[in-house]
Amino acid sequence: MTIIGIDLGTTNSLSAVFESERPVLIPSAHGRYLTPSVVARLEDGQILVGDAAKELRVTKPHLCASRFKRLMGTQEAIQLGNQSFTAPELSSFVLRSLKSDAEKFLSKTISKAVITVPAYFNDLQRRATRFAGELAGLEVVRVINEPTAAALTYGFYDRDLRKKLMVIDLGGGTFDVTIMEVFERMLEIIASAGESMLGGEDFTDKMASNVLMKFGLQSEVVEHKYPLQLARLKQKCEEAKLKLLATEAVEISLPSQSGDVDPSKQPVSIHRDEFEKWMEPLLTRLMRPIERAIGDANLDVNQLDEILLVGGATRMDCLQKFLASRLKRKPLCQYNPDEVVAMGAAIQAALIEDNAAVEDMVMTDVCPHTLGIEVSKLFGGEFIPGYFEPIIHRNTTIPVSKEKQFSTVSANQTEVQLRVYQGEGRRAEDNLLLGELKVDGIPLGRSGAPFDVRFSYDPSGILEVEVVVPQSGKTHRAVISHPDSRMNPKQVEQIVRKLQKVKFYPRDLLENKLLLSYCERILGEVPIHLREELNGMLDVFENSLRSGDPSFYELARNQLRIWLSSHGFTFDEGSDG
Ligand code: ADP
Ligand code: MG
Repeated sequence: MTIIGIDLGTTNSLSAVFESERPVLIPSAHGRYLTPSVVARLEDGQILVGDAAKELRVTKPHLCASRFKRLMGTQEAIQLGNQSFTAPELSSFVLRSLKSDAEKFLSKTISKAVITVPAYFNDLQRRATRFAGELAGLEVVRVINEPTAAALTYGFYDRDLRKKLMVIDLGGGTFDVTIMEVFERMLEIIASAGESMLGGEDFTDKMASNVLMKFGLQSEVVEHKYPLQLARLKQKCEEAKLKLLATEAVEISLPSQSGDVDPSKQPVSIHRDEFEKWMEPLLTRLMRPIERAIGDANLDVNQLDEILLVGGATRMDCLQKFLASRLKRKPLCQYNPDEVVAMGAAIQAALIEDNAAVEDMVMTDVCPHTLGIEVSKLFGGEFIPGYFEPIIHRNTTIPVSKEKQFSTVSANQTEVQLRVYQGEGRRAEDNLLLGELKVDGIPLGRSGAPFDVRFSYDPSGILEVEVVVPQSGKTHRAVISHPDSRMNPKQVEQIVRKLQKVKFYPRDLLENKLLLSYCERILGEVPIHLREELNGMLDVFENSLRSGDPSFYELARNQLRIWLSSHGFTFDEGSDG
């Protein structure tokens, strides 16, 4: 049974499969490797995922959801038209799309996957990711950390490596730092740190708010009053951000309040230096996790042999310069930063399948956050509850099993409600509550009756808690791994039923939908005298689509493409595939 590797990103997702002794990327319905992690719910209720949905984000933002990876592990729902979805539900749509692309590509049913997550994801976020997989009809055989997956790719291709590496992964929405040691084909992760609310999209947002300021506007106000204006401006800023790699300056004009670009409006010019100045506060934020990882690894920055860059946002020139100056060496970007994670996930899948091509590879990982329980502390003769007592410290190599002894705080206490937390806060409430376990059967007697708490944590983020009461010999066990600890099986069943009713936009028509959405987006950018012409061609195209006759719509499609290229628009369908 083939296991595919999936990089489920904030901005882009992709999958790979281990075939003919190496990882192979799987193309989407558009022949591209990257599938934008964008979901749209069309007016007729059909769900659209990927490139076509991304195009709609500019013209119909209220029908589109993106960046929902940032909401994984929360209960927050996103409204799409008259229906609302949670982050795992939306992620399941992306996964479902990748699954069907893989099935098409491999000509077989796929039901198992390795999915990557940011190293810094906590257990609720990891469980939400597993749950998303289940909702998409995928058994998630392993959840692995994105930088670890990237390192697997480097380790797979560079067999003679013997180095201490730092992987810096800045994607669209999350930031991860991982330090590891590679020795022959053994990969040992030493420390991970990160921030789950920092990524390339923040750089784009920052640019947009600064551009608005140049026009004398405030982004909060525009966001509230004119979402179409902001959506178009963000898309312009995203394009400009990428352009600033090759050019010194870009021009951006303010879209109208209804989201159209009026070429007669005076644009502002943004020089690369100015852009870089705007980005400084974000760049500075990168340093804290970097320093924490170096500290936890007990290393000096000079002991690192190489810095590897992963994630699209590490392409930024200012980021590379910033890191080079702070870390005193030039970072490397040997493989495509968009693709290394998915390839590593496929290598992990091969490891699970005992594929002979990877039989000499060994990998160990660490847990990114501290795990412990809530305890009471004795202050001035009084027990004060609410403190956090670590049992497994962050950056401990996993799998790991650790035991600590605790005792009751009052006389004749026969029960303890054990609360399991994850985090670094001194007080329990500052950390994440992962689950609870009731310990009973403690014999009557004085306070201070002992009980032993053992935590066992495995690479998939499954935590097993075992409590033994020595006086009675009674043992309590709990596996804290439910997809969402706050959800009961009935609620899960309800979600499954809700999603079963969802209709997906047919895969073989996606190409047409993409072209249509693309044209609808640029309609807001073409000069007035051409708008009518394009509009007319779109009517013909849409009409031909409704006919359902391929020979009819293929003709209309070709005419549209000719029109686009003759007017200087690049509709680069399949260009990166
Ligand atoms: P994720 O894994 O979180 O989905 P990706 O690794 O695909 O994210 O990176 C997406 C981010 O990278 C986006 O915010 C995008 O703007 C940014 N990005 C991609 N290419 C460039 C570039 N050339 N310059 C600056 N940012 C880039
Ligand atoms: Mg990524």
